[in-house]
Amino acid sequence: MEADALVMTGTGETGVPAAGTKLGYELIADLALTADSAFIWSFDFADDTLTWMPGLDGVVGLAGAPEATVHARLAELIAPLTAGTRKAPPWRDFELEQSFETDDGESRWIRLRARTVVEGDGEGTAGLLGVATDVTDRHENRQALADLTDRYRLLVELSPDAICVHEGEVITYVNHAALAFLGARTPAEVVGKPINDFLTADSLPAVLTRLASLTRTGDSTGPAETTIKRLDGSLFTVEAVGLLTTWEGRPAFQVVMRDVTAKKAAADALRYQAALVCHVSDAIIATTGEGVVTSWNPAAELVYGWTSAQAVGKLATELVGAPLDPETVLREGGVSQATHRRNDGSTLLIRVSAAEMNGGYVLLCADETAWRRAEQHYSTVVAALDEGVIVMGPSGHIESGNPAAFRILGSPREDLIGLPCVALELYDEAGRRIPPDELPSVVTRRTGHTQNGLVVRIRRPDGRDVWLSLTSRVLSPDNPAGASVVTSFTDITERRAIGARLAHEATHDPLTDLANRTLVLNRLGEALSGHARGPATTVLFIDLDKFKVINDSLGHSVGDKVLRIAGERLRRGVGKTDLVGRLGGDEFVVVTTGITEAQQARALAEHLRDALTEPMTVIGRQLHIDASIGIVMAEAGDRRAPEDLLRDADVAMYQAKTLGRARFEFFDVELREQMQRRLRLEQDLRDALQNGQLWTAYQPVVDLETGEMVAVEALLRWTHPVHGAISPVEFIPLAEESDLINVIGKHVLRTTTRELAKRRAQHGLDLNLKVNLSARQLDDPQLVPMVRDALATTGLPPGALCLEVTESALMRDQAAAAEVLAALRNLGVLLAIDDFGTGYSSLAQLQRLTLDTLKIDRSFITGIAESRDAEAIVTSIIAMAHAVDLIVVAEGVEDEDQLAILRALGCDQAQGFHLGRPVTAEQLFGPLPVPGKES
Ligand code: C2E
Ligand code: CA
Ligand code: CA
Repeated sequence: MEADALVMTGTGETGVPAAGTKLGYELIADLALTADSAFIWSFDFADDTLTWMPGLDGVVGLAGAPEATVHARLAELIAPLTAGTRKAPPWRDFELEQSFETDDGESRWIRLRARTVVEGDGEGTAGLLGVATDVTDRHENRQALADLTDRYRLLVELSPDAICVHEGEVITYVNHAALAFLGARTPAEVVGKPINDFLTADSLPAVLTRLASLTRTGDSTGPAETTIKRLDGSLFTVEAVGLLTTWEGRPAFQVVMRDVTAKKAAADALRYQAALVCHVSDAIIATTGEGVVTSWNPAAELVYGWTSAQAVGKLATELVGAPLDPETVLREGGVSQATHRRNDGSTLLIRVSAAEMNGGYVLLCADETAWRRAEQHYSTVVAALDEGVIVMGPSGHIESGNPAAFRILGSPREDLIGLPCVALELYDEAGRRIPPDELPSVVTRRTGHTQNGLVVRIRRPDGRDVWLSLTSRVLSPDNPAGASVVTSFTDITERRAIGARLAHEATHDPLTDLANRTLVLNRLGEALSGHARGPATTVLFIDLDKFKVINDSLGHSVGDKVLRIAGERLRRGVGKTDLVGRLGGDEFVVVTTGITEAQQARALAEHLRDALTEPMTVIGRQLHIDASIGIVMAEAGDRRAPEDLLRDADVAMYQAKTLGRARFEFFDVELREQMQRRLRLEQDLRDALQNGQLWTAYQPVVDLETGEMVAVEALLRWTHPVHGAISPVEFIPLAEESDLINVIGKHVLRTTTRELAKRRAQHGLDLNLKVNLSARQLDDPQLVPMVRDALATTGLPPGALCLEVTESALMRDQAAAAEVLAALRNLGVLLAIDDFGTGYSSLAQLQRLTLDTLKIDRSFITGIAESRDAEAIVTSIIAMAHAVDLIVVAEGVEDEDQLAILRALGCDQAQGFHLGRPVTAEQLFGPLPVPGKES
């Protein structure tokens, strides 16, 4: 048996029991009214008597049962009331619902309402007066309601729409969908939170206003778009409907939210498509199945010239001026080319695409007139180009080409089209055939990169070689992979030939066709820059010996031939990769790499000298040449510039010359230092003149017959501030390397003529002055005027001046020398040949020069007392000189024996340390008289 709680439903203070009965009739009436099925019962606390009205047996499920059975059931059912109300004050109402099972096993509900009543005038509760009602039906309804509630709850719970309930702006319930909406996993994350946690600040006021408009339970707002905020802060648009409801007896809002993202997206897509149709540049025309226009976009207006208003409702075929058969277009794959007409009659080249839609068609008409025309123009231009253009398809076959391409490649169109590009034979500048996978078009297709300005050679079918400057690039750079490649090229054969000739001329010596200085330096530069990896570089600087003699004595054309032969011999004497150059004059250079040992360089130098010294026959004359060779080896990591290497090789060559020619010398740093000292000395020498470091010594020349001093030789001296006395043997050659010798020569002439003029006057002497002339001074056009001027200003008679010229200076350029000497003679000056015997001049040659004096070289005098040969030579020189009326002077006489022999041999004059050393003028002549105190 089940019992609801016993409840007191009223105070009943006002209720008074009816007279004459144990129970208050008022209540009975009241109770009786409540239901047809209500039956009265009463219970007396005094004796626990339980009485009931007939019919109640039915209410307790025991219709027609014996009284005792009914009593027992009723007593049991009301037991909670009888037990609980004995002490209760009178006139209180109590209510109890009980369930029980009938004999048939049917579950029934009975409601028992009771009031505590008073007996007569007594005080305190005497018993209960009650009504029993069968409420089984109502209970069944309530069960149904509970079921319904459960079902509804489930419905809400599982609704795809998010549903939440909030009460006083605090969420009290959320369904499953709402959890997902709000980004929560469990209701606990949401329930109990204020709604403004889930609404944006913007949407909250509107939501509250909408909900506030609801007044009665069941009222709902219309759907409204609301932006909600998820737990993670992200925003979300929903369509929400608010509903005023009660939640656990209190007013609350139930909010149903629907995800409108998809709906919004669909709407957006529609808007987008509409905009697209509006703004595309292609005409979009919708028609009915019969071809009547239903839509005509702005592009269609532009392309065809008809406004949408004019077009809609008309036949599309009439508007585009051509048959439009969407069915055929569709059959042919949806796209076709057509010629349409604008409303002004002009022709349009249109690409038509068609699609079926809603029983009609949509036609997309792209106006390609402009670019198809451009295409035509382009092909006309390409056809007219001088530049060859060919297009290689994705498969590497030639797909098209312009006339220039076929002309340059020497093949007709039909031979080339379809040919795989690898069939073309291309060679690079080194003459190597370009392998198929390195062909420019193949590389371009593989890498997508443009190959620009490549120079290649191609062999034409007619056997002619053509040089091409070629560029290949992908046809459509947007889609490089596997795309077509366009190769354009110009025929540069002729330009190249000219260029090659010019380049050759710029880098080669025209006489020998050997490399010139520029090319030598370039090659040296390359060899040196490749040093880290490459082998050592060796430079041989080769200077022909005695070439000047050949050139001077046999003429330039013979000289040129000799140079050509020498160049050819050098070229044959070196390896294929070695470079032979001519730097000018008789200077050659060999650059070779790969020599690592000095021994190899030595062998090469010997080999080259051997080749050069082979006798050569030029215009019927056999000539011998030799060479001085300077060698410099640059090992890996050498820091010298090409110019430095050449200079060092030159230094070594100079050393070879100095050491006697016809040999080779290796460069070493000491050599360079010597050279540098020479260079410094030359610089010092320029200053020496200004600084008074140059002065002249005088050495007496004695007449052997009288023993008298008949002349003095002026010998130049340099007192260097650091190095002390420097011999003219060292510094005169330095001065000869530049025009400094002329400056110095002039100075010597001026000072010595002045000195001697004074001394002659001082002592009343007829003393000659001998002054040395260097070979280069003979070339100086200022020499003759300068001598004339010196004589004129000092008053020295021309016949008192004897100019000494060495044998080699006279032999250098005999014709020119003869001219200068003649001019000097015309001044009345005497001339002497100095150092006679050291050269190869014959007296016959000397005779032509009309000299006055011959000076026998010191080397013969030194040996004259010991060697009979020397004596014999001196004897014959004296004899021959006398035969042509030359005065003979012996130089370098150092003792009495030599002097005696010379006197015996009839030598005219002599000079030497034995007769007098070179000394200052003061030492030789005594101090000059003080002006004005002359005696
Ligand atoms: P040179 O013309 O043959 O001069 C004679 C040289 O022999 C001088 O040497 C002189 O000092 C030296 N000498 C004289 N007597 C003897 C002797 O008994 N024994 C030895 N061993 N030597 C003797 P120096 O002064 O050193 O001059 C060398 C050369 O320099 C000269 O040879 C001359 O060719 C050149 N030179 C000197 N002064 C001048 C000049 O003013 N102009 C030019 N162009 N050359 C000059
Ligand atoms: Ca001399
Ligand atoms: Ca001499």
